[in-house]
Amino acid sequence: MPESILGTDMTTEQIKYLIDELANLGVLALSFTGGEPTLRKDLPELIYYTGVEHGFVNGMATNGYLLPKLFKEHKIEGLDFILISLDYPTAELHDKMRGLKTFDRIIESIYLANKLDIKVIISTVVMKDNIHLMDDICKLAEKLGCSLEIYPCEDIIRDYPDKSYHIKDIQDMIPDISIWGNQIRILRKKYHNILTDPVSIEVVEKGFGGYPQYNQKILRCHVAEAYIFISHDGFISYPCKIHPIKRFNALKYPISTIYNSHEVKEIMKMHDNYRFCDNCRLGCAIASSIPTRWKTLYAKYIKGFIDGGLR
Ligand code: SF4
Repeated sequence: MPESILGTDMTTEQIKYLIDELANLGVLALSFTGGEPTLRKDLPELIYYTGVEHGFVNGMATNGYLLPKLFKEHKIEGLDFILISLDYPTAELHDKMRGLKTFDRIIESIYLANKLDIKVIISTVVMKDNIHLMDDICKLAEKLGCSLEIYPCEDIIRDYPDKSYHIKDIQDMIPDISIWGNQIRILRKKYHNILTDPVSIEVVEKGFGGYPQYNQKILRCHVAEAYIFISHDGFISYPCKIHPIKRFNALKYPISTIYNSHEVKEIMKMHDNYRFCDNCRLGCAIASSIPTRWKTLYAKYIKGFIDGGLR
């Protein structure tokens, strides 16, 4: 990757300054993601600052490798949920795919999180070679007292001003999307811990719009309004993290100035009308767009709560 994209990691004080800025803007929920957030030594301090001092709904996305160490060596206060990657129901298969012995650490982390009353959501990426194991993963998640988000593997092309990046041979891993959708619909009847809801399934099946036609009518992408992606170097990407047509330095300009600028408002108005949006299925874009419409908000969160899957 070009050096301009890699940038420099922010200091603890710089991150706290941006957390203050987000609170001033009225943001209510924050999630530490990566890369791998557990690699930061100041993570417990940042979690406390965000969750306890500011009272954000506070989450973290992780591969789980360093979580047991984090839980055992630090007092973790202010963390509401963990999104943890688990793609196979056994240590042998999961560790082989990840190239890292993480399975046992993930299971240990879930027990430790349960004791601290931190909600755990297992995030499973469905590929051609694990689609037949979905039932086993749901069963394991149920046994561990976790919820599950299950999305298909995607061909994410990361576009930067001077270069595009995408994973080689990714098409060999992507499952048949209609088989994935039907399987999740069947599993939702059997298990109540699946958070991948009917609206998300439909958006994934049809993809976000793209230019000039719309593939699906139920939901446009609202990621630019609903989600503020701040990278490790303090830059905010618009409209989203995978296609940053504009990047703004949040350490130089107030986040509210960036968010309310004419340039950003024009990007927000585009929704998924860019050519690069064609067939986009980015899970975080779908999740952050759902609360923008009552019908989809009801289907995912309110009905999910009434049905007992969302606790
Ligand atoms: S549809 Fe996808 S590519 Fe387009 S703005 Fe939304 S998240 Fe980005």
